[in-house]
Amino acid sequence: MSDLIFEENVPLAPLTTLKVGGPARYFTEPRDVDELRAAFERSRADDLKVFVLGGGSNVVVSDEGFDGLVIRPNFLGIAFEPGGDTTNVSAGAGENWDEFVETCVNKGLAGVEALSGIPGLVGGTPIQNVGAYGQDVSGTIVAVDCYDRETGSVETFSNAACGFKYRESIFNTTHRDRYVVLKVTFRLVNDGRPTIAYRDLVQHFAGREPDLTELRAAVLAIRRSKSMVLNANDPNSRSAGSFFKNPIVDRAIYETIAAKFGQVPMFPIDDTFVKIPAAWLIENAGFEKGARLGGAGISSRHPLAIINADGASAGEIIALKDAIQEEVGKKFSIFLTPEPVFVGF
Ligand SMILES: Cc1cc2nc3c(=O)[nH]c(=O)nc-3n(C[C@H](O)[C@H](O)[C@H](O)COP(=O)(O)OP(=O)(O)OC[C@H]3O[C@@H](n4cnc5c(N)ncnc54)[C@H](O)[C@@H]3O)c2cc1C
Repeated sequence: MSDLIFEENVPLAPLTTLKVGGPARYFTEPRDVDELRAAFERSRADDLKVFVLGGGSNVVVSDEGFDGLVIRPNFLGIAFEPGGDTTNVSAGAGENWDEFVETCVNKGLAGVEALSGIPGLVGGTPIQNVGAYGQDVSGTIVAVDCYDRETGSVETFSNAACGFKYRESIFNTTHRDRYVVLKVTFRLVNDGRPTIAYRDLVQHFAGREPDLTELRAAVLAIRRSKSMVLNANDPNSRSAGSFFKNPIVDRAIYETIAAKFGQVPMFPIDDTFVKIPAAWLIENAGFEKGARLGGAGISSRHPLAIINADGASAGEIIALKDAIQEEVGKKFSIFLTPEPVFVGF
């Protein structure tokens, strides 16, 4: 018999970085597969919907909260398995992501250093193939161990089986809500050189090749200047990170927009598609940095971050999201897809 604790009526806002939303009817933190199984058995016995929460850095919880069971997997432990020029590093889903990155950097293991400062837990990173400053977790993940909610068995997915794309995997598309991530294994390079792919970083080091520790420090400094590192004293960081994905459009559509609006920034994806920065579209649709709508606002340092500026409700966050989508749609005929997951709506 499991001694798993089920708490009742647990406020979810403090468990998220946006700090909005109501309570979970039930909440539990399983520490191993048996406890996770017990949590799902309880949900079936009591006919409860389930939401799996990680660090709450990519979610918007409704003001009504979640009328079901919120499960936050608390699987811990980091293991290193050296082999030749690389080391396989496995981390439990409940490990803090940035502490994991710091541990790897301190051991001279390269491959996740540019992902320093991203909030959340290890288990959340494969879901939307977390990425920043030239690295995506899909570049180093070799295996994702999951609990299958349908069969109750544990399965290991290879990198290819995860179907990683830009902010996408099978876990947030074709197999959404089917698997609970238990453990993620990364293959990192021993005594590796850091990745310096991003313009801000190239400029920062001006031709000099930094070591992993210097690169991590630079990423953290750049992220702090954009309020993209959590800081309890900085309301600009009370966000869910980038609120919209950068839209990927056909070159023909891009050309039409550029012909009408002049210099429109873009990043080529391939011969057919380009990525347009959502931040540019938002600002050019009339939403300035620092703009407010009730308690919700746009970060004064980053137009892509919708923030809880001052006691916002989830409803106010959604109203601002809707207004941005509508204006960008009207002006550029592009639908901005939100990045965060909406819970209890
Ligand atoms: C200030 C700030 C900066 C950010 N910067 C970046 C960035 O640079 N790049 C980037 O890609 N993202 C960024 N994000 C978004 C966010 O940090 C990442 O997406 C993060 O990986 C989410 O992890 P989490 O543990 O907080 O997941 P949560 O927000 O708790 O959950 C997100 C989704 O993952 C699912 N999930 C979480 N854990 C599990 C699990 N163990 N098993 C199954 N499903 C699970 C949830 O059900 C939900 O659907 C930022 C967010 C903030 C607030």
